Amino acid sequence: MKNKPSSQTKLKKDVLEQSLCTGCGACVGLCPYQVVYRDRTVQLHNCDLTDGKCYAFCPRTPTDYRKIWEILFEIDEMTPEIGAVKGYYLSRAADPALRAKAQHGGTVTALLEVAMDEGLIDSAIVSSRNEEIEQEGRLVEAKSQLGDYAKSKFTVSPTVAAFNRVMGDTAGKVGVVATPCQALALAKMKTARINDDLKINQLNLVIGLFCGWTLSVESFHRLLQQYQISPEAVTGMDIPAGKNVLELYTNASVTSVPMVEVDACVRTACRYCIDSTAEFADLSVGAARFGGDCDEMRGWNQIIVRSEFGKQVMELAVARGALEIWEAPASALQDLKNVAAEKKRKALKNIVEKSRSVKNLLYLNSDDPVVKKYLK
Ligand SMILES: Cc1cc2nc3c(=O)[nH]c(=O)nc-3n(C[C@H](O)[C@H](O)[C@H](O)COP(=O)(O)OP(=O)(O)OC[C@H]3O[C@@H](n4cnc5c(N)ncnc54)[C@H](O)[C@@H]3O)c2cc1C
Ligand code: SF4
Ligand code: SF4
Repeated sequence: MKNKPSSQTKLKKDVLEQSLCTGCGACVGLCPYQVVYRDRTVQLHNCDLTDGKCYAFCPRTPTDYRKIWEILFEIDEMTPEIGAVKGYYLSRAADPALRAKAQHGGTVTALLEVAMDEGLIDSAIVSSRNEEIEQEGRLVEAKSQLGDYAKSKFTVSPTVAAFNRVMGDTAGKVGVVATPCQALALAKMKTARINDDLKINQLNLVIGLFCGWTLSVESFHRLLQQYQISPEAVTGMDIPAGKNVLELYTNASVTSVPMVEVDACVRTACRYCIDSTAEFADLSVGAARFGGDCDEMRGWNQIIVRSEFGKQVMELAVARGALEIWEAPASALQDLKNVAAEKKRKALKNIVEKSRSVKNLLYLNSDDPVVKKYLK
């Protein structure tokens, strides 16, 4: 009888060699055989396990979405475009000093601060730049330090690898800031309950970020070189509403890079991604994209409340005076759904172009109702 391929072999064949690896880090830190090098996931040695967690937790291996929905969310709150919606608001941190440090309204950092203050989490995993100016997950145990890791970095952060590393340590109850693919990996861990692994119970809160794409580190650094900006000098980056450019900030300047140049640097895996709003998080936060003018909107977020626990955390943040919220108009929710649906359509089109078959959707199941809806 033919031997069953190992999980690691399948991960290599189905994900890494297909350019589907998002760099989320979920398969790293579970064993000594897989590591992150720059923004790539590298297999150092072979392992024989056929039921490995690396394959089970990867967001780019087949997933029973319906099962995860049923465990984590209210099924009647599910929407095909953006997942579960318990509530939808405009929001911002009440503290202007925090807003000044943050990417948009500082909602993510304000939520983490309140969750830590109230003992809902003991620590948080956020994203930080290491000495090589690459992103990595960073465990933060002091509320006062959370603001130091605010702002978005548009290259991948293998944040889930940091979660794997600290699980079972003294980190206590952990909150994680996650892109949509990372939130899915964490949801797979939470709902799989492989090997009676109780450490996953330490994961108490997932705050998702809206995400259109991440940039390949190599291509992004080449782009910076063209504009004579050193990676070390970059203090922030953003895509202002309606401007079709990526703004790069240094202490000395603001450089606007046309989106066509940026698009050429997008990580290949992101072209096959159907989630733009972190559908598997407790709360999902993105840039506000409606009402007001561009500069005013920069200081606000939009927030989707998905789980009951997410609702409690947001309400607590409002009650403690840390977060301001404003009920968003229905038209804004519809706009968001339209944009999210477009990402699904585009990704599915790219997947079919790659596999050359509407029946072979790589990591997606062609019978999944959401997939069916957007495949047309
Ligand atoms: C790669 C990427 C793509 C995005 N694309 C969109 C988009 O298309 N549309 C949209 O509306 N919003 C997008 N966002 C989200 C947006 O940039 C803000 O993060 C969000 O609006 C929250 O703002 P804030 O002021 O509350 O965040 P802050 O309070 O500043 O907190 C941001 C948090 O995100 C963490 N973080 C930063 N970079 C990363 C990273 N690469 N991976 C994981 N965590 C990180 C930080 O450590 C911090 O904890 C994207 C974010 C990222 C990282
Ligand atoms: S997507 Fe994440 S879990 Fe899958 S191979 Fe890449 S880093 Fe590993
Ligand atoms: S676009 Fe999708 S695959 Fe790429 S980083 Fe964002 S969530 Fe992950």
